[in-house]
Order: sequence, then structure tokens, then C-alpha cells
Amino acid sequence: MSPTIQRVDVQDIRFPTSRELDGSDAMNAAPDYSATYVILHTDADDGIEGHGLTFTIGRGNEVCVAAVQSLASRLEGRTLASITDDMGAFWRDLTSGDSQLRWLGPEKGVIHLACSAMINAVWDLWAKQEGKPVWKLLADMSPAALVACLDFRFVTDALTPEEAIALLEEKQSGKADREAWLREHGYPGYTTSAGWLGYSEEKMRKLCREALTEGWGHFKQKVGGDIDEDCRRAAILRDEIGAERTLMMDANQMWDVDEAVTNMEKLAEFDPHWIEEPTSPDDILGHAEIRRRLAPIGVATGEHCHNRVMFKQLFQAGAIDYCQLDAARLGGLNEVIVVVLLAAKYGIPVCPHGGGVGLCEYTQHISMFDYIAVSGDLEGRLLEYVDHLHEHFVDPVTIRNGRYLVPDAPGYGVTMKSASLAEHRFPEGPAWRDAPPAS
Ligand SMILES: [Mg+2]
Repeated sequence: MSPTIQRVDVQDIRFPTSRELDGSDAMNAAPDYSATYVILHTDADDGIEGHGLTFTIGRGNEVCVAAVQSLASRLEGRTLASITDDMGAFWRDLTSGDSQLRWLGPEKGVIHLACSAMINAVWDLWAKQEGKPVWKLLADMSPAALVACLDFRFVTDALTPEEAIALLEEKQSGKADREAWLREHGYPGYTTSAGWLGYSEEKMRKLCREALTEGWGHFKQKVGGDIDEDCRRAAILRDEIGAERTLMMDANQMWDVDEAVTNMEKLAEFDPHWIEEPTSPDDILGHAEIRRRLAPIGVATGEHCHNRVMFKQLFQAGAIDYCQLDAARLGGLNEVIVVVLLAAKYGIPVCPHGGGVGLCEYTQHISMFDYIAVSGDLEGRLLEYVDHLHEHFVDPVTIRNGRYLVPDAPGYGVTMKSASLAEHRFPEGPAWRDAPPAS
């Protein structure tokens, strides 16, 4: 019998990462990595639950929590089967079924973040019910069944459901071989851990050396501060990693279009592989202009790209070389898959945004599914890795030699340990009780 979702529990979970400047960049100077954490409680005898989260960076997480509370009644009382029988209709209903709540977006901002946490919790519940990790649940579906989970509203001018089915059909053969290859080799990653803006030279050098020992070959640096300082830090990183390894740069939206071009022309001597978020995440034509003027340096963006419509336009405008979709900003896995399919059609590699809390745990499923069932390709693809907060998860990511190993635990990977939840509940958990956040 299909479990019934009896109650949507939502918690405000925050980690005091700003105390060490972990995650610091030019736009986000002192983040406290946080999760709006959703648990779907069911009536199942085995106590199965669905866990999902969306990511914020501290203050305002309570707004996201309130948005989940406003949406909860659309999930409570439903059986899992009533959702999975028509996942596409469920997605449309949660994101647009309540027109008053939809007004808060539509399909962007806090209300969409809240939907993401809830939708991902449903996928987690479904995958746990099937006894499979999410990447496997997706990869095993027939093209028609998978496409039935998706909502193509507003993107059919770029990709129809029929085209999506055809794309997936093309990659049906070879799926087992690619899965076996992944199990043997893992999925290639890159590390951002050494490149945070707030770290001293000594700390950067130490982290670089550790990362090299661990087998990383691809590194990312934060830029967008003082340009001379950015160059100085790039020189340190190049000095540590050598000329042959890959260095990416991430400006976290700090520049205007012309400024991005001028600054990257200075940073070009350090041979950057891509510039990430060079300007406003909403500026599709600006990204296209930067890309045109900076080639062959690639342009990457997506962690603040809030829905499939924006990605469609980024692809149509030839604005980016790498698609950095975010598992917790798009409206959950359903919308992520639409973007993965759009990217495949336009030939843009998907390199999901990692880091935060739980994002790497999510994105490993997306990239492995992409490789096995959609693109069938690793060319240009790297999965971001950031070495923070994994210890709080029941099944954290496993990395070996700069590669993600295939996760086998059932679900979508973001189930947190109950002790970690209790410790970091805001504001009453022990992590916050005695040391309130800096303003
Ligand atoms: Mg970034």
C-alpha cells in the first residue's frame, strides 16, 4: 500500500560558517549556511519519511520556512502513489495551483525555494520506497515515464515532450555500460575549498597542497574583490597547482558587463577555464556579450538562475558555455530534469552548483543521471565539490582522487542526522544559544 503523507514538518537549520569565513565570496561576505529542512511524515508501518531541503545563507531562512508552511496543506493527506502516478500534474499543482501563493514568484524567489524543498522531499520518499538512489530511479525509467514527470509549460518553443522522449531514446542503449563505468571510475569533480575570498595566503597554500595530495586536478578561485588582489591570489593558486591543472574563476555577480570584460582581460594571464557569474544572474544578453568578448574563456552561470525559462533563454541566446543549475533553487528535481534535457538539446555541458549545505549530496544524483541517460558524455563536465558540512548527513558524498563515487543509499541523499538537526535548530539549538549570529 502506498504511504500517506500525514504531516509536513519544516525546520529552520543553520550552521555558523561565517565564524571561519567558509563560503566567503565578493557578494556573500559572511554566510551562515542554512537549510529550510522538510520532513514528510507518513503512516507507513516501516516509518519511511521523505527528506528534502533548500539552501539559504542565514537570515531569511525563516521566510522560507513560512513559505513551506503556507504550501503544506497541498501535500498533507495525499498518498505517495497519487503523486507519482502523475508527477507532472503534481509539480504544476504545487508550483502554480494556488494562484495567490504563485503571485509571490511566479516560479522564483522564496516561494520557489520552498517548493524545491518539498518536491525534493517527495522524490526522496519515492526513491526510498523503491529502495533506489534517485539517480537510479531516474535512469531506470522509460523515456515516456520520465517525461511524464515533467512540466514543459513555457519551454515548448525550445523543447517539446516528444523531442525529450526522442533524446532519451537515443541514449537507451549503453546505459548499463555507462553505469558500470561510473561505478569503476566515479564522476569527475573540481574543488572550490581553497579559493574562498576570506582565506589568508597561508591557508590557501595549505589547502591547495592538501587538495593536490587528495588527487584534485581542477580548482576554483573566488574573484570580484579588488582586481589587483584577485590577480595576486590567482598567482598564488597557479604557483601551487602548476600550469597544467585547471583553474576556474567565480565573480559571484560583482561586475557590470564592461567591467567583467576588463577585469577578465587582466586575469587572462592566469589561464582561467571559465568565468562564473560575471554579472547579474538575470542579465541573459549581458552574459552573451561577455561570452562573445572573452572567448575562448568560457562563461558559466546558473546557481541563481531560478527557473527553466531563464535557462531556455540563456541557451537560445548563446550566452553560456556551462550550465550550473542549482538543485535547490530550481523547482525541485522535475524542473532540474527539464533543464538537463534543454542543455542536452543545445549541447551545453551541465556542471551543477555544489557547496552550501547538502547541494553536493543532491547534485551527484543529477550528474550521474545526466551521464547515464541523457548526455551519455563527460566532455566539459565537472561536478563542483566543497568540503564543508558533509558530516551532518546520514549518507554523505564519497570522494576519491577528485571524483564522486556512485551513491547507493536509497533516496535523494540529504537526510541529516537527527543530532545535527537538534544541534543547529535556529535559534534554540546549542550551536546558536550561546553565540548568536553577527549582524
Ligand atoms: Mg558560484
